Amino acid sequence: MNPLQIVSRTPKNNCGECGFPTCLAFGAAVCATGVDPRKCPYIKLEGLEVESTGGVDLEDAARERDLALVEHLKGKIAALDFAVLAARIGADFQDQAIVFTYLGQTVELAREGILLAGIEPEDPRDQILLYNYAHSGGGRLPAGNWIGMESMPNSLAKVRTLATYCEQPIASTFKGRPAAEIAAKAAQAGGQAFAGSSASLALQFQVLPMIPQQILFWEEEPEDGFEAKVKVLYDHHALDFLDIESLLFSSERLAERLASLLS
Ligand code: SF4
Repeated sequence: MNPLQIVSRTPKNNCGECGFPTCLAFGAAVCATGVDPRKCPYIKLEGLEVESTGGVDLEDAARERDLALVEHLKGKIAALDFAVLAARIGADFQDQAIVFTYLGQTVELAREGILLAGIEPEDPRDQILLYNYAHSGGGRLPAGNWIGMESMPNSLAKVRTLATYCEQPIASTFKGRPAAEIAAKAAQAGGQAFAGSSASLALQFQVLPMIPQQILFWEEEPEDGFEAKVKVLYDHHALDFLDIESLLFSSERLAERLASLLS
């Protein structure tokens, strides 16, 4: 693994959160001086194994860390009143479980664990997001005022990450496809087209009951030198229900789901 291969796994936003001024400096330090790649909170660890970690599979290590967090969150939520909680986050309370939809799939959150579309989520990060949503305890209802992530507090590094792992992949997925085909597939992820935007296609998704997200897509115009572009918008009360990390992850998941539906 060389520094550029490390850099290619980061959002390349030079945010400095790893303690290095640039992603390239970070990549060089990982390869040359044994810095732990996990110091970049945004790095994609899948399949990454570098000598500095003593041959430890970083994906396994990250999974173990995430599973420990799942257990922690499960313990925190167990003591809460699920019936009250369900009402606050726009969910139903059925058979001692909180029931709601996540990207068009049914979630059953019980004290024993979480089922997503009837099975335990394979990726613990989905469980972390869902526990965080329930644990938020609710807040101000969505009010229909839409903002970009750049308008949220402490979002500087997140904006580039959103562009790299959500907006650019969705633009690539949508590019050149008929709007009707995209809208039909988006409906399976809880999305609905709406009018009144200057975009080529505007979709609104109920990612979680209190977390609507809009995707505005502009088709490429090669003759004018415009590439296909996507902008994701959030209700300005979104952070009352999810922390910014989980919100960002939910958008990445939305991008992955759309890519899989349109593949
Ligand atoms: S934290 Fe990650 S994205 Fe930010 S500068 Fe370091 S390597 Fe780059």
